[in-house]
Amino acid sequence: MGYIDEIFTQVREQNIAQKEFLQAVEEVLESLRPVIERDEAFYRREALLERLVNPERIVIFRVPWVDDAGNARINKGFRVQYNGSIGPYKGGLRFHPTVNLSVMKFLSFEQNFKNSLTALPMGGAKGGADFDPKGKSDREIMRFCQSFMTELYKYIGSDTDVPAGDIGVGAREIGYMYGQYRRIKGAYEGGVLTGKGLSFGGSLARTEATGYGLLYLTQEMLRCNGSDIAGKTVAVSGAGNVAIYAIEKAWQLGAKPVTCSDSTGWIYDPDGIDVAILKEVKEVRRARLTEYAKARPNAQYHEGKGVWTVKCDIALPCATQNELLLDDAKALVANGVTAVAEGANMPTSLEATKYLQEKGVLFCPGKASNAGGVAVSGLEMAQNSMRYSWTFEEVDNKLKEIMIRIFHNLDDAAKEYGMAGNYVAGANIAGFLKLANAMLAQGIV
Ligand code: NDP
Repeated sequence: MGYIDEIFTQVREQNIAQKEFLQAVEEVLESLRPVIERDEAFYRREALLERLVNPERIVIFRVPWVDDAGNARINKGFRVQYNGSIGPYKGGLRFHPTVNLSVMKFLSFEQNFKNSLTALPMGGAKGGADFDPKGKSDREIMRFCQSFMTELYKYIGSDTDVPAGDIGVGAREIGYMYGQYRRIKGAYEGGVLTGKGLSFGGSLARTEATGYGLLYLTQEMLRCNGSDIAGKTVAVSGAGNVAIYAIEKAWQLGAKPVTCSDSTGWIYDPDGIDVAILKEVKEVRRARLTEYAKARPNAQYHEGKGVWTVKCDIALPCATQNELLLDDAKALVANGVTAVAEGANMPTSLEATKYLQEKGVLFCPGKASNAGGVAVSGLEMAQNSMRYSWTFEEVDNKLKEIMIRIFHNLDDAAKEYGMAGNYVAGANIAGFLKLANAMLAQGIV
């Protein structure tokens, strides 16, 4: 049995119930085949793949807190510090009831390659809790965040591990967690978290970074394939941080975003999504999308899923993992989609990805196309170290440069290994090569 198959068999046997983790590992190992096969004996001797698929450390802890009615509540907290070869562990925290060990391991495994692609000095990690922020009061959120940090602080630091936000964790939650960290440590260590508020060390353009970065990369991918984003119709899923700023930047680049969604329903707005109303509904009022439809007479609200049935040129899944399945891919192709770029992490199933690629749809995986968030987190760390802030334009320009460079890195890697246009393989290979070099240079650790 070849080295890749041997390792995947091992991973499958040891992680039987972890379907998201297995999905992520399978996708990466499949694309690394041509790289590993060039020097299989060497990689095997170094146990490089075993080291790649096994996290350096996993912390799982109890998070006790008290709700507004005085009841004690318990959630499960996680931090997976996957690979610290390139820099301090770096990756977001997710608060969502679907959080479990498999989801944490898949996200942190992906983060290794994403952070490597940014070319900034950041290792891979991810964390979070199975806590559902929906329907909780502000004070409940604060007490939960404080309790979560009371355990997490032992494992993080500006030179060891720097968490950020993800689903369910935005500026409010980062603020509460930073306050608790500062209180416990008795020191102002701004670089310990990113995604902070602007009044205490946050970076301008961090809020916009993932959505904007997604559009910069999509624009470059289209340009390099002889197309222009201006004038294109865009279907977006999600209505959170990534989706909102993807929609905003799509407008700025001359495209027309016509959909968005949340966990209960979706919007089709034939006039194009009104970003100001969407922000008001989601960021300010934290309300359902039915409120958006009330404010836009031409917009249609539908219960359940359906964003991918809308006719569009470009699809940007920006909600969560496995939200674009084979039937969705078929519907998109039947409607003439030409490009799909992932804003969320692993939103497209393996079958759907293969189908889109076979049909000649340009497809960019999240570890490259949503890397703008962690890239600006890296820039936030740089600004914190300098005790200095760049302007919005300075950060935005650097973000754009990074996204364009990422696209060319993966495009070049795909070409070098005889898979021109396969950006999934290109992203995995380019991310892997840098990580593997760093691991090999540091010996067997
Ligand atoms: P938010 O919490 O801000 O928004 C998530 C959006 O997706 C919400 O509209 C939410 O709807 C919807 N959603 C979440 N879970 C589900 C589900 N199980 N089914 C249907 N809809 C769901 O998160 P972000 O925008 O920050 O993150 C979105 C994706 O982007 C995630 O995959 C995340 O890992 C990825 N990402 C985020 C980065 C960032 O900087 N924020 C960076 C890189 C990747 P509702 O409000 O109803 O729950």
